[in-house]
Amino acid sequence: MHAVDPAHFGNFTAGHWHAAESDQTRLDINPADVSDHIGDFAESGGPDAEVAVEAAENALPGWRDRGPIARAEILRRAGELLAQRRAEVAAVITREQGKRLGEARGEVDRALAILDFTIGEARRLNGVTTPAEEPRTLAMTFRRPIGVVGLITPWNFPLAIPMWKVAPALLAGCTAVLKPSPLTPLTAALLVQAFHDAGVPAGVLNLAQGDRPVGEALVADPRVTGISFTGSLPVGLAIQRAGAPRLLRTQLELGGKNALLVLDDADLDKATDAIVHGAFGQSGQRCSATSRVVVDIAVRDELLHRLTGRAAAMKVGPGTDPASDIGPVVAAERLTACLAAVEQAAAGGAKVVCGGTRATEGLPDGYYVHPTVLRDVPWDSEIAREEIFGPVLSVIDCDGFDDAIRIANSVEYGMSGTVFTRDPARMFEALERLEAGMLHVNRPGVGAYAHLPHMGTKASQFGPPECSPQVWDFYTEWRSACISY
Ligand code: NAD
Repeated sequence: MHAVDPAHFGNFTAGHWHAAESDQTRLDINPADVSDHIGDFAESGGPDAEVAVEAAENALPGWRDRGPIARAEILRRAGELLAQRRAEVAAVITREQGKRLGEARGEVDRALAILDFTIGEARRLNGVTTPAEEPRTLAMTFRRPIGVVGLITPWNFPLAIPMWKVAPALLAGCTAVLKPSPLTPLTAALLVQAFHDAGVPAGVLNLAQGDRPVGEALVADPRVTGISFTGSLPVGLAIQRAGAPRLLRTQLELGGKNALLVLDDADLDKATDAIVHGAFGQSGQRCSATSRVVVDIAVRDELLHRLTGRAAAMKVGPGTDPASDIGPVVAAERLTACLAAVEQAAAGGAKVVCGGTRATEGLPDGYYVHPTVLRDVPWDSEIAREEIFGPVLSVIDCDGFDDAIRIANSVEYGMSGTVFTRDPARMFEALERLEAGMLHVNRPGVGAYAHLPHMGTKASQFGPPECSPQVWDFYTEWRSACISY
């Protein structure tokens, strides 16, 4: 292992920070001001995955044997440390991911809520006892941790998503290698440091920074018994394919193309608030972001009037500026993708009613996009089907309730679904008919609670959902036992 150059940030293996085996690094920059260089982070490859997995494998027996209640006590200390470091961690999230400081603080709180929920579950990892077929026999089920897990995460919630994997993995008794997004390495390092400072033993939680090569190596390593992945559909499919020959256990949280339905009896003020929050909050970079508004033609013009007024008035700026309503997107590639999607939609007949361009005036050199609303978007056009992951909203006309549901369900994804109506019958019917995992009625289509399953249907998810008691079905496996006496 190489020592870490103090100017660089390394991997964390077996309780030590160190450089990548190749000594290669990658520069982390601030998307709100690209002249702000955050640091050089380890750019790992296969050999780094190998040492990290080895450390996790060595630490497994000791950690597994402690039992969940003792493990929970260590995790509780990590939560206390993170709460003390809330301001520092939130500032780092804003600096490397771009979201507004208030959003970053909210993310730290969300991560702490998830940890809190997970710790409470330590006393509820129950199995069952069941009647036996013979006398003097006890039959029961219980859970065991699955072993060494690889946790591969994206950049949009650089603290909360790693937390909602690390916390249950460790509580369950697994040991782990976290492979965060190369766009948000420092947030991941702070998370791992908090667990280390709290007393998580060496090797239980390891960090391998980098991109695809180290991710692929983790998936390919036969000592890794489970991969929990959050990210895009193409990468999720690649992981599923790579792991299939050895029946790798996977948990895949993927993309979304989420619809918010505005029916003809909707409260338009509430709907407008929800759309602005869902489409432009976190710069539209949420898997549950509202990216399609499906509006009844009876109220379309009124809704568009309100919506464009609100979107056009939003102040685009750095996340550190309290006056900013919307921060930058995370990287140059996201900026280009947003603008290209708008251009393509316009060529296909959609009308840009506000935004659609890069924001530069009075701003540092960063990746800023004006909040964008497109109207007259054909329901089956590319922009209405493909995830954009930026502040670009498509407004699609529908003619009545059945048509709204049909359009909402016409995409391959099924992450979140939202309906605005005053009619209780249509509320409940929408809950039954929308093909989405996270449903909302008369409230924004984003945001949920730490104890509710985070999940999608169709191409948005595979495997047990996260952030809920169901998560144990990923990090543990069942045993049945029959004991005669
Ligand atoms: P991504 O799929 O490009 O990358 C995700 C992670 O996978 C990164 O850490 C990346 O380095 C790693 N990776 C890339 N190729 C790999 C490979 N072949 N094998 C193993 N690992 C590999 O996603 P992203 O751009 O970081 O994040 C945006 C995507 O994440 C969007 O599609 C979004 O919808 C999705 N997302 C989903 C949820 C959810 O809960 N469903 C939450 C947030 C983000």
